[in-house]
This record gives sequence, C-alpha cells and structure tokens, in this order.
Amino acid sequence: MSRQRQAKIATPERICRTVHALLHQLPLWHEPAELPFRNGLYFFYERGERSHHGPNGRIVRIGNHPHSQGRLQDRLWDHYALNKNSSVLRRFLGGALLRRTNANHPCLRPAPGKGHWEQGNASPCRRCRPLEARVSRLLRERFSFRCVAIGHQARRSIFEKKLIGSLARCTTCSRPSAKWLGRHAYRDTVQSSGLWNVHHLRGPDAMSWQDLNIFKELVMQTRRLLKGTAPAKARRDVERIRGTLVIVACGKAKIWEKRKRAGPTRAEEVYCGAPFKVNKEYAKRWGSRWVILSAKYGYIDPSFNIPGPYNVTFKALRTHPVRLRQLKRQVASKRLDRYQRVVGLGGAEYRGMIRGSFSNPTIRLDFPTQGLPLGKAMRRIKRALAQGRHLPAGRL
Ligand SMILES: [Zn+2]
Ligand SMILES: [Zn+2]
Repeated sequence: MSRQRQAKIATPERICRTVHALLHQLPLWHEPAELPFRNGLYFFYERGERSHHGPNGRIVRIGNHPHSQGRLQDRLWDHYALNKNSSVLRRFLGGALLRRTNANHPCLRPAPGKGHWEQGNASPCRRCRPLEARVSRLLRERFSFRCVAIGHQARRSIFEKKLIGSLARCTTCSRPSAKWLGRHAYRDTVQSSGLWNVHHLRGPDAMSWQDLNIFKELVMQTRRLLKGTAPAKARRDVERIRGTLVIVACGKAKIWEKRKRAGPTRAEEVYCGAPFKVNKEYAKRWGSRWVILSAKYGYIDPSFNIPGPYNVTFKALRTHPVRLRQLKRQVASKRLDRYQRVVGLGGAEYRGMIRGSFSNPTIRLDFPTQGLPLGKAMRRIKRALAQGRHLPAGRL
C-alpha cells in the first residue's frame, strides 16, 4: 500500500464493509459470562438488523470500558443487569420501548431524554421498574455481540472513537430497518446513525487505511487468543491479572437425587440446593472467574464433569474430604492465585480451607457472608444481584 494511500482517510463505506467482514470471523456471544478475555471492544448486533455490509447482521453499537482495565465483561454486565442507571443502552432501549407504544408516557415526561427513565441519575418509579426486566429480556433475546481483544487502554479508546466515527458515516448501514426500535430513541443521532451510541457519532475521528490494517491484526490476534495459539505476552495483555476470583462452596443436594439417570454432569449443574444456586449466580455475575470448592474434588471449574453421586463432607473426616495440601497444589496448578481478590461464599469449614490454601499475602481474601445465618446471607446476595452491586466486604 502506498504511503499516500495510507495517509488518506478511507471512505466510510469501504471501512464499514471491511470492519463487518473482519468481525464476522469472530464468534458471536450471547452472554457476558462466555467471554474468555477481559480487555477489548464490543460490537452489538440486533435481530432483524442487516445491511449490505452486514448481511448476517449489522453492528448496532460499539462499546468500550474506557476508564479501567479488565472491565470488559463487567461493562457488558452493566447492560444486562437490572439497573438502567449503569447503562445508557438500557435507558435507550427502555425509553424506546415506552415511546413506541405511548410517546406521552409519564415516565418519559417532560421531554425526550428528560424523563426519569431516560435520565441516568433518576430512579425508576413503580410504573417503569418492571421495564428493567423487560430490557434485560430484550437484550438476551434479540441482541448478541462480538469482541475484539485490545489490552492497551489508550489504543482501545482511539479505536472506539474512530470506528464509531466511520460506521456512523456509512450511508449503507445508517438506514436501519423500518421496524428498528432505535427509531423510537430519544436522540436523533441514534436514528440517523443506526447506532445505539451517544459519543463520537459526529466527531472528527474516522479510520484511515493504516488504522484498518492494525484493526485487522487485532482481529487476527483475537482469533489466536480464542484458539489458544497466541503468545503468552498477548494473553497477559488481555487477561485480567487483577480481578476477582469467586469460590462457591459445593452443596449436599445433588442432581442424582432428583434424576437418578442423569449420569456424568457438569459441576455447576450437579449441586441443586438453593444456596448454591444463589452463590453461583453471584459468582457468574461478578467473578472474573469462578470455581467450586468440592469436598471431594477440591477446586473445580464449573465445566468439570462429575461422574456420579458421592457423599463427602469437610465435616466428617471419615468421608475422606480433599486435604489442604492438595488444595494448595490446585491453587498453583489452576492459577487461582493470579487474582487480586478472592471472594469465598460458603460455610465456616469452607472458609477455613480457602484461608489455608491461599498463602499469597498480596491476595485479599473476603468472605462477605461470614457471620450471617444462612437465610440472611442468601437474602443479602439476592439483594446485591437485584441491585447490580458487589457484595460489601465481610466483617472479619
Ligand atoms: Zn417511571
Ligand atoms: Zn456500512
């Protein structure tokens, strides 16, 4: 490519078509929990929205986690969790849903973008609170996303800006379908760009040919990361070394009691008591990674296959629970000690084993439900989930 051509700003049409084609090589995700890396840009797709450049789906939002490292998954959860004030996308979607049926809806008054639903600092009222669940459902049912791993914070922000700038200018894709929900968004920039974005739509920044080449390399690097063939340094750049590991205690109630023929089952599906389920939900929501502490198998990943029924408990040595020595080895071999914070959810005997097996003093161990009776502990976790909040640190 000649230098002259590289310096030139490419036409938005060419950029947009190439960006869509490049992203098409990456897997489409439906849940933030599926994401295996922690730093990058995300690109939303929406059912029913296609274009010449994205015949299988045009991009409807580009997003970033500009202010902190390691928050890609959390940022996506901000959109999926039940709190409009943590996500402009949720306020857009909910507002558009209301406006589509009633432009004069009381929760949108006094003016588009000014009502308490669409204001980022106002609480939902009794009437619009149920909308939170509707927006989450809408996201799960109609939206999906792809992600490009980019470890470097500043580079991520530059690409976010330039990509939005270019895609918003693509005349082929800024003609959303007649039924597009975004036609009811309060901002006319959403309607005219076809993107559920706020910033950079009309900014001066756009992709050059050179940017496009770098972006192409980033997409290839992401593919290598997903295949496990990327070099270690590239992995370190996009993996969060700092985040939170959540450890969930296994439970006594197991799937085979209800379904005798269930056979070998993924660990996260094996335990079916209520506390395990609530803890699991929290772990999936807030953990950079989560594992189960099984009295028989020790630290196991949620996908670990448990062959069949067993009955082992830390409370009775005669059942031969896993030893501390073995747990320590697992912490090292499973790289559980790479996290800055470890949150343990479970009873006293589990806390003891967790304390004993994490010896690295730089890791902060936290047991947020320590000292609470079981019912109260569960209520606290449920409340944190409903409010989209982390659990406050436990008393020691
Ligand atoms: Zn309301
Ligand atoms: Zn386009």
